[in-house]
Amino acid sequence: MEWHPPHRGVIDPSTTGGRPAIWAATGRSGGMSVGRFSSLNLASHVGDEPRAVAANRDRVRRVMGAGELIALSAVHGSDVVVVDDSVIASARSGQDPVADAVICDRPDVALLALGADCLTLAIAGDDDVTVGAVHCGWRGLVEDVVGATVAAMLSRRVRPARVVLGPAICGRCYPVPPSRVDELRARCSGAVASASVVTCADGQPGIDVRAGVRARLQELDVPDDAVLLVGGCTAEHDDLFSHRRDGITGRQGMVIVRPQEAPVSGSRGFDDGTMAP
Ligand SMILES: [Zn+2]
Repeated sequence: MEWHPPHRGVIDPSTTGGRPAIWAATGRSGGMSVGRFSSLNLASHVGDEPRAVAANRDRVRRVMGAGELIALSAVHGSDVVVVDDSVIASARSGQDPVADAVICDRPDVALLALGADCLTLAIAGDDDVTVGAVHCGWRGLVEDVVGATVAAMLSRRVRPARVVLGPAICGRCYPVPPSRVDELRARCSGAVASASVVTCADGQPGIDVRAGVRARLQELDVPDDAVLLVGGCTAEHDDLFSHRRDGITGRQGMVIVRPQEAPVSGSRGFDDGTMAP
């Protein structure tokens, strides 16, 4: 049966320099995994059947029309992997790059960031080919993985033209110990800290990573109208994987690619044409 990601869109060439960027945010449905990982688990480190994960990733790659798929193995750091031949060869042999961010200036290579409460981002550069994918939880905010990714792009003379923020746990569903808030306030800017620290229903402090990343993007000169939010709160929606809700579970992903072929006519631009409520 044909599968369509719940959120998918095309970033218009006129905003990014020529070749479109195609992105998608996956959810739980559409894959081969069973049980806790049912069904489109894209992570190989969570205890799922490797053949099911490989089949799921291959499905995503094909739907994106990509020749290669590079999936990140996240470690809550700020290293940025730049895709080259060795990264592609390792990915083909089943070794995911161990990092929370990846950028690529080759068409036909899809980048995949995984999460199950943490935020995932897809970034289209303002040149013809560059894309990026990022995994960011509260630790990623503190380590400034988003700033590191933008800096890696700028060092290659590429600016982030459009950013898509995928599903993530919301601040109300994400109470944290006060020490975590203290660390965030100590290490992040005032704007990022005040955007991300919220109060949960029970009065405990909570962290809204997505709000923090939006504030960080503004600091990095990525205006709000260049940022698209898709998907809801992972903990509140059964069609999304949530580690906090379910413990051992799968991972959804945010994926982005520049197609090998020339732009298809009638691309829809930045807006997501298939967004669910
Ligand atoms: Zn929530």
